[in-house]
Amino acid sequence: MKEVIIASANKHKLEEIKSILKDYKVISMEEAGFFDDIVEDGTTFEENALIKAKAIHEKTGKLVLGDDSGLMVKYLNGEPGIYSARYAGEEKSDKKNNEKLLSKLKGVKEEDRKAKFVCTVGICYKDGTTETVRGEVEGIIGTKEIGNGGFGYDPLFYIRELNKTYAELTFDEKNRVSHRRKAFTKAKEILDKKLK
Ligand code: IMP
Repeated sequence: MKEVIIASANKHKLEEIKSILKDYKVISMEEAGFFDDIVEDGTTFEENALIKAKAIHEKTGKLVLGDDSGLMVKYLNGEPGIYSARYAGEEKSDKKNNEKLLSKLKGVKEEDRKAKFVCTVGICYKDGTTETVRGEVEGIIGTKEIGNGGFGYDPLFYIRELNKTYAELTFDEKNRVSHRRKAFTKAKEILDKKLK
């Protein structure tokens, strides 16, 4: 089985990614023996995804996928963007992030609450060459949290076509439509061709 290391320690994300990269042996960065903190100081999702992938490739010499994801709200000129995890501070609290987003959008009408989730996957091949792919899903930021599933901004991210927030979807439902699904499916298609 082909092996790929995922440059993430986030268990939610790893579960989602494992179910997409079905015919690959997915190894977390910790399973690959990498425990260091990676400083994500890029200015784009693409840069950050590659910073993570390259850091682990340098230590292991293996094929590594790094991902960077976040929420971009049109009315807030793309905020929180690459700062999604730490929007309300370094402690990375989903609850505080959601409260901050709601307060920034207080009084803003539904038509101006458009947002998109972005996921970028950076692929670092064994020989050190790289490429990136991106997946996006459009939605609307709700006026209160709805749903108990998922993580992060899920309870605020309403998808009109589904008439549900990300947090109201089951794990499998979210995983069929998510920004991460789209980006990792693109990455898998590339790897399937290159590694056959
Ligand atoms: P990353 O781990 O550096 O990619 O940061 C991603 C951050 O974006 C997370 O901590 C969440 O705040 C947000 N985020 C990314 N994907 C999702 C998702 O699927 N649902 C909810 N929030 C997400």
